[in-house]
Amino acid sequence: MAQIINGKEVSATVKAEVAQETARLRDERGLKVGLAVVIVGNNSASRVYVNNKKKACEEVGFQSFEYALDENVTQEQLLDLVSVLNRDDRVNGILVQLPLPAHIDETAVINAIAPEKDVDAFHPVNVGHIMIGNYSFLPCTPAGVMRLIESTGTDITGKQCVVIGRSNIVGKPQAMLLLQKNGTVTICHSKTKNLKEICLSADILVVAIGKAKFINGDMIKEGAVVIDVGMNRDENGKLCGDVDFESAEKKASYITPVPGGVGPMTISMLMKNTLTAAKQQAGIE
Ligand code: NAP
Repeated sequence: MAQIINGKEVSATVKAEVAQETARLRDERGLKVGLAVVIVGNNSASRVYVNNKKKACEEVGFQSFEYALDENVTQEQLLDLVSVLNRDDRVNGILVQLPLPAHIDETAVINAIAPEKDVDAFHPVNVGHIMIGNYSFLPCTPAGVMRLIESTGTDITGKQCVVIGRSNIVGKPQAMLLLQKNGTVTICHSKTKNLKEICLSADILVVAIGKAKFINGDMIKEGAVVIDVGMNRDENGKLCGDVDFESAEKKASYITPVPGGVGPMTISMLMKNTLTAAKQQAGIE
């Protein structure tokens, strides 16, 4: 039976580290850390995420600046706001909550954020840094996954790592991070043939598909570390991952639950990135 990786606990540790460092920099250097969060429209899930980010800012001692824009805001108005935030010294990190309404070009908005304030690490400059392995910020979810794997004491070097999903925000950067830790990495996607066989080869399996309980115990190697990034609703409307937890936990050595696994890590890694941004902008480290 697998040991459960407690994402809430690891996330609380990361936030405590950030809070401690933030307090030290405030006391010793007078440094204040600020995160601007921009939300467009009334998407209820986005509203929940933004509120959680504001709450996390309070917990770690950051100032948060919220900009709630009307659903009908023009792209030009949104880009103007980003430009103002790029120049605002109180703002160390800028996060534009996705998805944006259909009439707004998300790529144009992401590309308008100053790379040094891009705490989501979605800007092509930061994506490039990740490819080269010389980065300041890591995308929050894959960085959270790495921290969870680290919490198990697993050495990634030489391990067969399988990432299912190739999105720009999870799958692709996840594969790069595992590669940088000397994993032997395979990336799978919807066109992959023999998915089961590949999954069965994985010592470390990271699943980011977006399909409820898609990966079951029959697809998991005995003793594998299984990280479930998925956030879905099952047939009863209950939150669940991409992995069928019940059958998977019988095979894995470690496994993340949903909820309470990867989810809490994403926000704590955002706090970590924002602190890093503030330190860099202040010329510290
Ligand atoms: P996405 O952009 O929709 O990408 C899904 C990926 O899964 C695609 O690469 C797709 O392949 C692949 N895929 C779909 N069906 C597949 C199949 N049958 N076999 C193998 N691969 C398949 O999703 P995402 O943004 O990466 O998110 C993935 C999941 O993680 C979602 O449930 C999302 O809610 C969750 N998520 C959670 C957090 C968190 O904080 N916990 C953060 C981000 C995302 P193709 O490229 O071929 O289409």
